[in-house]
Amino acid sequence: MNANPTKPSKHGAPSRNNKNWGWAILAIFAAIFVAGFFVQPSQLKEKPISEVIKAANEGKYSKIEVHGQELIITEKGKKDPTIKSRQEEKATLKESGLNPSKVQVEVKPTSSTTSNILGFALTSLFPIILIGGLLFWMMRSAQGQGNQALSFGKSRARLYGNEKDKVVFSDVAGQAEAKQDLQEVVEFLKFPKKFDKLGARIPKGVLLVGPPGTGKTMLARAVAGEAGVPFFSISGSEFVEMFVGVGASRVRDLFAKAKKNAPCIIFVDEIDAVGRRRGSGMGGGHDEREQTLNQILVEMDGFEQGQNVIVLAATNRADVLDPALLRPGRFDRRVGIGLPDRPDREAILRIHFQKKPVAKDVDIDALAAKTAGSSGADLANIANEAAIIAARRNHAEITQEDITEAFERVAIGPERKSKVMNEHEKELTAYHEAGHAIVGHVLPDSDVVHKVTIIPRGGTGGVTWFIPPEDKSYHSIVEYKDVLARMLGGRIAEEVKYGRDRVTTGAGNDLQKAAELAREMVANQGMGTKLRDQVFHSEEGMMMERMMHDRQYSEETAKVIDQEVESLISEAAERARVVIKANLAQLEKLKDALLEKETVEAAEVLQLLDGTHLPKTAALY
Ligand code: ADP
Ligand code: MG
Ligand code: ZN
Repeated sequence: MNANPTKPSKHGAPSRNNKNWGWAILAIFAAIFVAGFFVQPSQLKEKPISEVIKAANEGKYSKIEVHGQELIITEKGKKDPTIKSRQEEKATLKESGLNPSKVQVEVKPTSSTTSNILGFALTSLFPIILIGGLLFWMMRSAQGQGNQALSFGKSRARLYGNEKDKVVFSDVAGQAEAKQDLQEVVEFLKFPKKFDKLGARIPKGVLLVGPPGTGKTMLARAVAGEAGVPFFSISGSEFVEMFVGVGASRVRDLFAKAKKNAPCIIFVDEIDAVGRRRGSGMGGGHDEREQTLNQILVEMDGFEQGQNVIVLAATNRADVLDPALLRPGRFDRRVGIGLPDRPDREAILRIHFQKKPVAKDVDIDALAAKTAGSSGADLANIANEAAIIAARRNHAEITQEDITEAFERVAIGPERKSKVMNEHEKELTAYHEAGHAIVGHVLPDSDVVHKVTIIPRGGTGGVTWFIPPEDKSYHSIVEYKDVLARMLGGRIAEEVKYGRDRVTTGAGNDLQKAAELAREMVANQGMGTKLRDQVFHSEEGMMMERMMHDRQYSEETAKVIDQEVESLISEAAERARVVIKANLAQLEKLKDALLEKETVEAAEVLQLLDGTHLPKTAALY
C-alpha cells in the first residue's frame, strides 16, 4: 500500500514549470541586452560614404575606424565617434577618393570586433546571468512557499496501514470490554454487505473516552489493523491554527481523501480541542474552532450509506464536548476506556517487559499490585525506565532493584542523593515522615504503609508510601477522613516535636492535597455534615469561564462549603495530633531508623511500629 498518499507524486510537474519560467525570463533578459548592444551604434549618425569622404578630405574628421565594411567616425574636437557609415564593397577608401593624410584611418580586424562584442558580452552578460539566476532562484523559492501556502488547508492526516507499524488487538493488553465493542466496528468495516442486507445502519462515529495514556490511540489503530483498512489520523489540536478557515478546509480535505480510500478509518485524536461546546467562549468565541467543528459535522452528515468510512475520535473530556457531536448519526457510539485494574496492569507490564531481558526473580505481579492508578502509558514508561537504569548499571538483565527504582522514579521523580540536607533538616524530615507513617498505620481505614524514606525525590523532602490492599473504586467518608489525618500527620509531627511556630514549608504539598481532598468531599461527593448528600459540582474549565457562568450555588452556600472544608481539616489535624502524642515512643524509633538507613521497608516499619494504639478520642466509631 502506498505509505503516504498525502504527498502524491505531483512534485515533478510544478518544479519543471518553474524551470521553464526561469529560462524564459533569462532569455528575455538576454534578448533585451543583445538588442541594446546592436541598437547602440545606431545612435551614431549615419552618413552616405560619399559625404563622409568629402568631409574627411575637408579635414573635418580626426579618425576613421574600419570594422570590416563599417566605418566609425570621430569628428575633430570630439572624443567619441558620432558618425557611422558603410564603405563600398568593391572599393577601398582610397579608391573611393579619400585623402589619407587628412584623417587617421585605423583598420580594426573584423575578428576584433567580434572579440570586442564577446569581451563586452562576457563582462556585462555575466552580471545579467547572475541576476537572471538569482531571479530564477527567487521564483523557485517563492513558488515553494506558494506551494506551502496553498497546502495550508490540506490536512496533515497521516496514514498507517503498512505491515510494519500495524497494531492488532492482541498488542493491547486488557481492555476486554472496549475491544469487544470495537470488534463490532471491525466487522462493519470488513463485511459491510452483511449489515447492509438487513438494512442496518452502520455507525459513522465512535467516541473513545478515557483518561490519557490508557491506549485510546492504540485501540483505534488496532481496529484498522484488525480490519485491514487504511487509518487516517489527525489530532484535534492540529486544527487549532491561527487562520480562520484553515481547520475547516483541512477537515474537508481529510474526508475527501478518506472517501477515496474507503473502507477506512478516520481517527480524530483529542477531539475536545475542536469539539468543545460552542458558544460558551468569552470575547466573541473561537471562530476557528467553531468552523472546524461545523465542518466535521457537515462531513459526517454528508456520508452516504455504504460509503464505509468510520470516524473514531478520542477524548478524555467527553463532558465538554458539544452536544451536536453526540447526536445520532454522528458520534453516537461511545466506548469507555478506563485505567487498568490489577490483572490488566500485569498484562500490560508483561507486554512491555516481553522483549526485554528480565532476571528470573523479578516480580511483575508485585509491581502490578503497587501501581494502582497508573495508566498503560505509565506502565510502559516504568518498563522503559527499568531498561535504562539496568543499562546504566551495566546489568546483563533487568533486576528487581532496577524495576523498583524505575517505579519510584516514574511515580515521584528520580532520587536526588546529591542534595545534602543539614542534620536538623534531616531529623525534621524523619519526624515528618514518621508522623505520616504512624497516623496512617494506626488509623483503621487508612492504607498499609509500604515504605518510608527521607531521601529527597522530585520536589519532596521525603516520602511515605501507602499501598491500597486492592483496587478500590469507591471510598467512604471514614476512609477519606483517615487519609486526611495521615496527610496532616507530617505537619503535626513537626508541631509536636518542635512547637507550633517551628513547623516548616516541608508540609506545603501535603496541606494542599488535603485541602483539595476535603473540598472534593464537600462540594462534589456530598460528604459534608450540613451539606450532606448535595453536590455543588462546578464544571472544570477556564478560570474565567468558571467564574462567569458555572458556579451554580449562592454566596451563602460557598461560605458553608468553606466552613465544612475547614472543619474537616481541623478535625483531621486533631486526630493526627492525638495519635502521634499517644505513640511518641514509636515515633522516636522510626525516626532513628530513618536517620540511620534513610529508607525503611514495609516489614521493618511494621516491626518498629509494634505496640502503637489508637486512642479513643481519635477513633471515628
Ligand atoms: P491514549 O491515546 O489513551 O492517551 P495511547 O494509546 O497513546 O494512549 O497509549 C500510550 C502508550 O501506552 C502506548 O503506546 C502503549 O505503549 C502504552 N499502553 C497504553 N495502554 C496499553 C495497553 N492496554 N496495552 C499495552 N500498552 C499500552
Ligand atoms: Mg492518544
Ligand atoms: Zn509530608
